[in-house]
Amino acid sequence: MSQALDDRIALLAPALFHHLGADGVYARTALFERVIEGLTKLISRYRDPSAEVMRFPPVMSRAQLERTDYQNNFPQLLGGVCCLHLHGSAEPSLPGGDWAAAASTSDLVVTPAACYPVYPLVAARGAVAEKGLLFDVSADCFRREPSRQLDRLQSFRMREFVRVGSAEQAFGFRSQWLERANELAGLLCLNYRIDKASDPFFGRTGQLLAMSQVEQSLKYELLIPIYSSERPTACMSFNYHQDHFGSTWQINGKDGELVHTACVAFGMDRLGLALFATHGARLDLWPERARETLGL
Ligand code: AMP
Ligand code: ZN
Repeated sequence: MSQALDDRIALLAPALFHHLGADGVYARTALFERVIEGLTKLISRYRDPSAEVMRFPPVMSRAQLERTDYQNNFPQLLGGVCCLHLHGSAEPSLPGGDWAAAASTSDLVVTPAACYPVYPLVAARGAVAEKGLLFDVSADCFRREPSRQLDRLQSFRMREFVRVGSAEQAFGFRSQWLERANELAGLLCLNYRIDKASDPFFGRTGQLLAMSQVEQSLKYELLIPIYSSERPTACMSFNYHQDHFGSTWQINGKDGELVHTACVAFGMDRLGLALFATHGARLDLWPERARETLGL
């Protein structure tokens, strides 16, 4: 971590966030939200006219997430919703008043990525037409990775475009977005590079999965220096899932083949922070091009 960049973020922080008593959980200021709104509109301008828009809540069905095996692949990140299970109208009797100890898991988990809820919805609609499907989704996401660093949050916003269709359609979508990301970063006057990546799979078997993900070029990330130039922060990801979700949810095309899927994910809070880290807290001093792009 570079001390200079670290100090720069520490100076910026009060203008952007209010710590809410738990690491990685923040209220965002009006200044920060102006930029997020600009980013949100900018991303919408890139939406294909045929894309279906869905906005997901911060919780999702536990059974649906378990079906993707998330609890085995990323147990370190998973969060569930625990509740008290009170029966009838009798007064609740809590052992020592400790509600948390008396609570147990419910049928809900906190959504770890914006695209997970879309696949079971697609599956419920039956075979996918030849032209495939496109979605524009978003969710407040949760991942259990508490940190003092402002680019690693426990609760953060994710926007995604998702493609469902043939292998060519899904792979082509991902390739197109790898191109477009250059344009987007250029419009925002951001320093960046795009690199192969892997998801943070858990454990030894996970390491093998991660290696094969890199070897097969299934995941790329757009990296921007926030705390460090040597270890820049992933602000967008470009994922080709092959038929992973197709087979998990038994989603077929009209030809009977399992569908392939791909998604491009925009980490909204990281992109916002990257803009402030690069251009500073004074919007009027940002490069003209970036201001125009974001309607600031
Ligand atoms: P992933 O599904 O891991 O590719 O995440 C998609 C995007 O969400 C990443 O490129 C980041 O921009 C963002 N993201 C992931 N984890 C976090 C986090 N802990 N804090 C803030 N943003 C995150
Ligand atoms: Zn996704």
